[in-house]
Amino acid sequence: MPQPPRPIAPAIKTNLPPAVHLPNTARPTPVLTWAPLSRWAAEHKIGAPHLLSGLPVATYAIGSTNGVVVLEIGSREAIWNGIEINLGFEPQLIDKQIFLHELDLQRNLEPLLCDPPLTFSTNRVIVIDPGHGGSNTGTHSILDGRFEKEFTLDWALQLAPLLATNGWKVFLTRTNDVDVSLDDRAACAEMHHADLFISLHFNSAAPDQKQAGLETYCLTPTGMSSTLVRGYNDFWSENFSNNAFDAENLQLAVRLHTALLRTGALEDRGVRRARFIGVLHDQNRPAVLIEGGYLSNPHEAKLIESPEFRQKLAEAIANALK
Ligand SMILES: [Zn+2]
Repeated sequence: MPQPPRPIAPAIKTNLPPAVHLPNTARPTPVLTWAPLSRWAAEHKIGAPHLLSGLPVATYAIGSTNGVVVLEIGSREAIWNGIEINLGFEPQLIDKQIFLHELDLQRNLEPLLCDPPLTFSTNRVIVIDPGHGGSNTGTHSILDGRFEKEFTLDWALQLAPLLATNGWKVFLTRTNDVDVSLDDRAACAEMHHADLFISLHFNSAAPDQKQAGLETYCLTPTGMSSTLVRGYNDFWSENFSNNAFDAENLQLAVRLHTALLRTGALEDRGVRRARFIGVLHDQNRPAVLIEGGYLSNPHEAKLIESPEFRQKLAEAIANALK
């Protein structure tokens, strides 16, 4: 499970209108609006969206040479090249046209449909962060109580040499069973001038044993609501260092998520946005957190406890970053 930032006040349920975020200065805050997707597509010189299906709810597809996004009216879940991604706002149907919030156009559709894909030269630096460690055990297996910290460390230790073979300079935030603070994990990436940061975790929905699948998280863009808040405050106006990498975060998340799903072992719970994941806040580089399955689900716990499965997860990440 992801570690939250430092202790904070009890959650306040916010119920803000979607087009406005909290003004924090005396100057008027620009009110972001909704835009017709067809106009945005024309401005960005990509093909117009087309209606895939009208029933039970209208579903639209829009594509470029990068791939295809499928959008459903009234749902924040969207599909990008076959994987689930999550929007900040539900698409709207206005005058028989699909409208998206401008932040979704800027922060989600533009990086996927319009930006050049992430490329990596050799000799780049990556920091891999095995979640938890020491007295911070993380969650535990439903089968036998073994801790998340053990499995994240092994995943990272298997991943490091594979990345090194592909030309990456690899640093781990921990190489044994020790406590490492969230600040020190971020500082590790800063000290090594990392080009990328990947935090590795396994999930829990205990006492629910059914929930299962892969989730990949990146920081929520400023002004947008998160996919997951887990009871923490989700202040839309917050802006962290890592928000400078919103586009690359999403591209990295999508690339890793796609590769991990190709192992065929985990169902798709989507590329998601969260604001409470402290280890991502101060990253001055693209950074994501992967939840490689649920230790609270007996089937996935069995997988996660097998070294062969963790090797598969490591290979998937290494291949995605070739
Ligand atoms: Zn964790």
